[in-house]
Amino acid sequence: MLTITLKPGKEKSLLRRHPWIFPASVARVDGKPEEKHKPGATALVQSASGQFLARAAWSPKSQIRARVWSFNENEAVDHALIKRRVKQALAYRAATVRDSDAVRLIFGEADGFPGLVVDWYGGRQGWLVCQFQSAGVEAWKVPIVQALIAETGCPNVYERSDAPVREREGLPLVTGVLAGAEPGDATPVSENGVRYTVDIKTGHKTGFYIDQRDNRALVMAHAAGREVLNCFCYTGGFSLAALKGGAAAVLSIDSSGEALAIARRNMALNGFDEARAEWRDADVFKTLRALREQGSSFDLIVLDPPKFAASPEHVERAARAYKDINLLGFQLLRAGGLLFTYSCSGAIGADLFQKIVAGAASDARVDARILRRLSAGADHPMTTSFPEGEYLKGLLLCKA
Ligand code: SAH
Repeated sequence: MLTITLKPGKEKSLLRRHPWIFPASVARVDGKPEEKHKPGATALVQSASGQFLARAAWSPKSQIRARVWSFNENEAVDHALIKRRVKQALAYRAATVRDSDAVRLIFGEADGFPGLVVDWYGGRQGWLVCQFQSAGVEAWKVPIVQALIAETGCPNVYERSDAPVREREGLPLVTGVLAGAEPGDATPVSENGVRYTVDIKTGHKTGFYIDQRDNRALVMAHAAGREVLNCFCYTGGFSLAALKGGAAAVLSIDSSGEALAIARRNMALNGFDEARAEWRDADVFKTLRALREQGSSFDLIVLDPPKFAASPEHVERAARAYKDINLLGFQLLRAGGLLFTYSCSGAIGADLFQKIVAGAASDARVDARILRRLSAGADHPMTTSFPEGEYLKGLLLCKA
């Protein structure tokens, strides 16, 4: 069997149950030549002294050279493990997700499937949308798809393995039907009483920002009678939640015309009064400045930008961009107004994000109270051993 022997001392992170093995930790790889070159082959990982550490998926081309399937010496990596873990993931969602049929069913490492994302839209008549981001889950694609169909009862599975991280694993970008029917361009879902449509084939990521469900509910709960500004609105997630919550008016900004077209379609689907909503196809940075020059102000502002820091080298530039929009946000907020502000950059931790927002408040000469610290919903579980899984962080602030 393929065996990875680590350098002395490099077993520590595995003993803490962190699931990634980097090239610098590897002393030796033993096995047949064809195994050594086979992405996704299951390897036994041992310490320098020969102690069992884990079974892991080998990825010869990746900077994450192996990802742990199991720390349990008695647990084989086989079809039964896959079935068991899909069952567990499903049971956990059934217990924690309410009032939505847009659910993240598998969230990578946190669900024991390193590098796999599965989102489920629209229940049994809907679609399972998969993204295989690592050699390990790629190698087990067929049994994973079979287990997903068997356990959910949903026969339609679509692949969106077009995330650039695939290239770092030496995997090509692929999309297409894995089982059942091809999705149309408007798969209906319903979340907290709001209807949305998801473009599974061409939307961002797997089509919808499921991670913001709880935060959309929070905006809904605070929106009544307020004038709302939603920046980076995509297909209208927060905007429709605000309208459902009784917002007096919602101005939504995004630079993607396609996303705005879906947002408008989603609004019509809910029968909301069009007069309450304005959709602006524009750059947020420029528009916020223009609104400030015009003396505009709002009671509730949402800032949910794209990932400004794609990797640690980009943190400084990203920090300036986050500070810029938050500064403008504070300036456009009325006294007593609420700011919902987010970062989905994994390279920017919650502490740093709070410091950036604090810097923006102080430059805007604003006193702000932190009413809540925010994160992704329960279907994006955080685990104690894998802090990398915690990428979405946010703050709900009230301007004094
Ligand atoms: N809040 C959304 C998700 C936001 S994704 C939701 O809950 O569904 C980020 C969005 O920002 C994308 O739709 C992208 O088109 C948009 N975007 C990126 N850069 C932008 C810019 N400079 N100005 C306006 N929109 C931008």
